[in-house]
Amino acid sequence: MSKKIPYRFYLTEDQMPTQWYNLRADMKEQPDPLLNPGTLEPLREEELYPIFCKELAAQEMDSKTRYFDIPEEIQEMYKIYRPSPLIRAYNLEKELGTPAKIYYKFEGNNTSGSHKLNSAIAQAYYAKKQGLTSLTTETGAGQWGTALSEACAYFGIPLTVYMVKCSFEQKPFRKAVMQTFDADVIPSPSETTQIGKKILAENPGTTGSLGCAISEAVEKATTTEGCRYVLGSVLNQVLLHQSIIGLEAKKAMELLEVYPDIVIGCAGGGSNLGGLIAPFMRDKLVDNKDIRFIAVEPASCPSLTRGKYAYDFCDTGKVTPMAKMYTLGCSFIPSANHAGGLRYHGMSPILSKLYHDGYMEAVSYEQTAVFEAAKLFARVETILPAPESSHAIKGAIEEALKCKETGEEKTILFGLTGTGYFDMTAYSAFHDGKMVDYIPTDEELEKAFEKLPKVDK
Ligand SMILES: *Cc1c(COP(=O)(O)O)cnc(C)c1O
Repeated sequence: MSKKIPYRFYLTEDQMPTQWYNLRADMKEQPDPLLNPGTLEPLREEELYPIFCKELAAQEMDSKTRYFDIPEEIQEMYKIYRPSPLIRAYNLEKELGTPAKIYYKFEGNNTSGSHKLNSAIAQAYYAKKQGLTSLTTETGAGQWGTALSEACAYFGIPLTVYMVKCSFEQKPFRKAVMQTFDADVIPSPSETTQIGKKILAENPGTTGSLGCAISEAVEKATTTEGCRYVLGSVLNQVLLHQSIIGLEAKKAMELLEVYPDIVIGCAGGGSNLGGLIAPFMRDKLVDNKDIRFIAVEPASCPSLTRGKYAYDFCDTGKVTPMAKMYTLGCSFIPSANHAGGLRYHGMSPILSKLYHDGYMEAVSYEQTAVFEAAKLFARVETILPAPESSHAIKGAIEEALKCKETGEEKTILFGLTGTGYFDMTAYSAFHDGKMVDYIPTDEELEKAFEKLPKVDK
């Protein structure tokens, strides 16, 4: 008989992981390399030095080292808000009347309200260690900008954040939080960069996109002495740092003597999902464990379910290296009506490869269905979920309802990446029946696909 599982389970401080896990070391086939957009040759590590600090460039390129020690200073800051709890969703199970056993790993217990702080701390730390004098980044919904502001304030590095204009306008308090941590917040596209000016000239009145904001931040980094760029998702290094989520979850489940049949996460750029599944995917790849992985994305920005697996730029201004990934095309700008985050045009090359090779599934849902799931979850579990995280909730509910039909007692683990306190405009639209679903047409997607760079690889 298995033991009684508590509602909330926390590892102790000395049970916390002291290393990150690099899933690439156990992948049967590697994701395709980043390409230099000029030569179309695989990028060399040194070519990343003008953009990223050295240690992070090394992590980005390293597909062999299985475990990376987490530096002492990073572990110390982790301990301020980690370990995060593994929660048994007894109330949700009861509400659904499902025999499934549902667990979620809750990452919203820090000021940024999301898992993003896990990588922000690492990136700010390595920049400081290299003696860099400032950092710059983009933010969409604002969680990444907030997380990085917290980390930069902690390690004492000035930060400039380019925030996607429509979020900047929808979420004015995000800016105030970032300013509390001394960050300089600029709505993007802006007149402060050449690429911002160009995008504004071609597309006046644009509400911006993550792709635009990335272009501006990269330009700022490469034209400012001692400044580097940091990115909150998509990159291999970010998935590496986020493996802390999966490592903690796996350890906690081991102690509880349970193991998931299905692991579910929302997918924007893929960092929380990549981090959550990493050690479980290892079990599938190395030990042939029978376990399903499901990525949940918005129907309005469906990079895995409707995108192309192709080389593309990581930004709209085409200043970044090219990555082979599932993409909607770097010129794709999701509908401004879409409130639920997860708006990035591409997907982590690691997750793209795993999906392409059949190790992971993907589904998409419309935002009204996602908010319905959020409301049901909030009512019984009492946490107000971020719209992004609610995609994973929706995915978990659907799987739990399938178990109800079949009577299977499956164990489901999902990632609850954060809280939704800054998303009340979207929640209000939902409550007032004003939220609309927007699904791009095939023609719209084709238009963006036509602009994909022509790479014969
Ligand atoms: C940024 C964010 C996401 C999506 O990003 P990934 O890199 O795909 O994990 C999901 N949930 C929350 C709360 C976020 O802030």
